[in-house]
Amino acid sequence: GPAAPHSASGEMVALHDLDGVAPPAQAARRWIPKRVVATPAAYDHAHGQRIMALLAARGIEVERLRGNRLTGLRGESDRATYARAKSTMAIVVSPPSRRKLQPIAPSADWRFDLAEGCPAHCQYCYLAGSLSGPPVTRVYADLDDILAGLGDYVGRGTITSRREHRRDEGTTFEASCYTDPLALDHLTGSWRRAVEHFGAWDAPVQLRWTTKFDDVGPFVGLAHHGRTRVRLSVNCRPVTTRVEGGTSRLEDRLAALRRLALDGYPVGLTIAPIIAVPDWRAHYGELLDDVAGVLRGVPDIDLTAELITHRFTPGSKEVLLGWYPRTKLEMDEESRSRKHGKFGAVKYVYPPETMAGLRTWFHEQIAARLPACRILYWT
Ligand code: SF4
Repeated sequence: GPAAPHSASGEMVALHDLDGVAPPAQAARRWIPKRVVATPAAYDHAHGQRIMALLAARGIEVERLRGNRLTGLRGESDRATYARAKSTMAIVVSPPSRRKLQPIAPSADWRFDLAEGCPAHCQYCYLAGSLSGPPVTRVYADLDDILAGLGDYVGRGTITSRREHRRDEGTTFEASCYTDPLALDHLTGSWRRAVEHFGAWDAPVQLRWTTKFDDVGPFVGLAHHGRTRVRLSVNCRPVTTRVEGGTSRLEDRLAALRRLALDGYPVGLTIAPIIAVPDWRAHYGELLDDVAGVLRGVPDIDLTAELITHRFTPGSKEVLLGWYPRTKLEMDEESRSRKHGKFGAVKYVYPPETMAGLRTWFHEQIAARLPACRILYWT
């Protein structure tokens, strides 16, 4: 079977039945990094100090580095480097390049980052193709400056201005491109502050983030004022139980979706990556029915779906095979179509017939099984 998934705490967990559809017996625990380091610069920021206070309250020690570069993260082999990096958290100041925001179609007008890296072990993880170097989780100490800098971008988005069905969102800011917020917020409080920042903001703006974790308790009751849309990233059982190591169980994510919706948050589903597994219609049908079941009785729900099919690049495939050498995730170039993405980079997507079949099915079945749900995009 695939490489053993790790728990979010960095230890190994028992393999669940790889060929069956039984969910893992235990919900993901809150991540406790084995090692936390901080750069000297991180100490100069109020939020760096807040993170350190949160960690101290949990009895987690922070090592102060001598310089502002992260070193000593490599192990003897790629696997050892992976294991070491994945269990390390670094408190750092965000790189200056991150302060100039990039557009992030089709998800949002702009992306901004509060962290980079994630302690979970999804075998398709898109970070594999986006980030370079050991996958250490970096959390940003300069949160206050990052949030203050967003004001310059209000009213300048291309998604809100060009797409009729998204005009009511205001300028949208995506805060989970390179990480999973709920995997980290108990250690940083960063997304809680972001939710409150947007809640207090007197402008047509929306904060967006997506997660595979269920730790939403601290977000219930925050003054969000409907300006944060939280999406739960979900998948059908054969995918979620086999290749999403160290994340929260599907049923726990769905319960989290309900809690947020009941607290008045606009919510959403990120169905990603959509994988054409055998019997995918039955499996994804079950997922949509589970969502409908858990949201039953939520008054005035504002629910969206973002539909993202599986893809890989030569670079992401190589990195993922290094991390998960025995993965059963299909990454076969022969059965895919080659596409040229932005800047000419090659990516492998499903061939047109498969794509059309998936697309039609999802649009029809979401309309039938989740009539309140608005589809934001398909890709
Ligand atoms: Fe990657 Fe998201 Fe899985 Fe984390 S939860 S390993 S960021 S796909």
